Amino acid sequence: MGAVPPSAGSAGQSPLSVPNREVLERLGQIAHRLGTRSFLVGGPVRDSILGRASPDLDIAVEEGSREFGAAVARELGGRFVYHSRFMTGTVLFDRPQASGLKPRAAKSGPSSLSHIDITQTRAETYELPAVLPMVRPASIVGDLGRRDFTINAMAMEITPGSFGAFIDPFDGRADLAQRCVRVLHARSFIDDPTRILRCIRFAVRLGFAVEQQTLGLLRSAVDQRLPAFLTPERILYELRLICAEPLAVPMVKMLIRERVLDAAWRWTPPPGFVGNVARLARQAKSLGTVPGAAAPQSGTVPGFRQAELLFIYWLSVLPVTDRFPIRKEERAAAEAIAGFHKLKPKLKRKLRPSEVYKILRSVPEPALAALAALETSAVNVKIRAFLASYSKVRIATTGADLRGAGLEPGPAFREILDELLFARLDGRIRTVTEERNLLRQLARPRTTDA
Ligand code: ATP
Repeated sequence: MGAVPPSAGSAGQSPLSVPNREVLERLGQIAHRLGTRSFLVGGPVRDSILGRASPDLDIAVEEGSREFGAAVARELGGRFVYHSRFMTGTVLFDRPQASGLKPRAAKSGPSSLSHIDITQTRAETYELPAVLPMVRPASIVGDLGRRDFTINAMAMEITPGSFGAFIDPFDGRADLAQRCVRVLHARSFIDDPTRILRCIRFAVRLGFAVEQQTLGLLRSAVDQRLPAFLTPERILYELRLICAEPLAVPMVKMLIRERVLDAAWRWTPPPGFVGNVARLARQAKSLGTVPGAAAPQSGTVPGFRQAELLFIYWLSVLPVTDRFPIRKEERAAAEAIAGFHKLKPKLKRKLRPSEVYKILRSVPEPALAALAALETSAVNVKIRAFLASYSKVRIATTGADLRGAGLEPGPAFREILDELLFARLDGRIRTVTEERNLLRQLARPRTTDA
């Protein structure tokens, strides 16, 4: 166990400048009352040392993670979800402002805290390569020993009386200083090949090198095609994380350079893939360059749109199977991108707005937002016009108006509403009065027929 460096302060004084100090002290007190030591672990420790903002609060307790999580949820006004197989859980705050954290912790500013991840310190045994491990309780040092990289294997105790004690059994702090990502042991990528993707993500995100021996181990795991043992779910989880990163493009490049998905799925990128990923990332960054494209919902992280566009584009060129655990909207958007070459020739002609509308209305919006970045000007201009304006055009006429005009509900309803919309789109009618007049004309022959 790494002692607290004297220069950095003795127990009770953190060598780290941790955000959310008051919250951490409170969590430490709750754990102490339950008779267990508690720690801030992993990412937030790494990020505090680097002076980077960390979105997470990862807490480990040596005993009773379930009781601890329940007590935290009770005292801070959250909801606790527990996964007994891994002895992990999350306290979720639906309304962080009202979670009970804000008033007491206002000085350390955790106002955006939406959840706290809780684990019980545990060791893991990998019985087969790439298969999820068996877990058993262990001390904090044992727990750090199951982690992926030295820079993620540090902890800071938050137990009252020992608050701030720094635990760094694998010299993660030295690797942070040397700016390198290093595995804890030689079997690391064999036990869990998702670490190959994690290694690339952390190295690129932090601008670190992959330590020489670690790089050798990574390449040997790829040569042995160990990623092929992973379930699609686990690989896709990592790809989603990469898609959400600000430096997604260099991560994708490194993933391709290291042939990770070739090893997993025999997948090599189609020509132009990296350029397309870069185009999409740029587009997502300047939301609004696709006028009218849906903005992220409030409350979602800023990378939301990029994550979505990159992921569906990636899916559109991957050998997606039924075993891919993806949402049906994602599958539909990816299929629309992949099948767009069929619509494209039609869009290259000179078209009225209503004709563009008819071609594009069945294409899911995220696919259009992606295609607007990927397609060249003639087609792209029409996609942008559709997103920005045609898809927003509404008519005043309702079903009730049609019934009022003597029509029976049925397919004719849709046809007439469409006719009105197309006339609006093409500027043949501009006012509600003109729309009413056209409706009367359109309704007349049908009511006579009836
Ligand atoms: P981020 O900043 O991306 O959230 P993080 O370090 O918090 O990074 P998580 O994926 O949230 O990463 O995982 C939390 C911690 O759990 C990591 O810091 C690491 O110690 C450990 N961990 C996560 N995944 C693995 C893995 N596949 N193998 C070993 N340890 C892991």
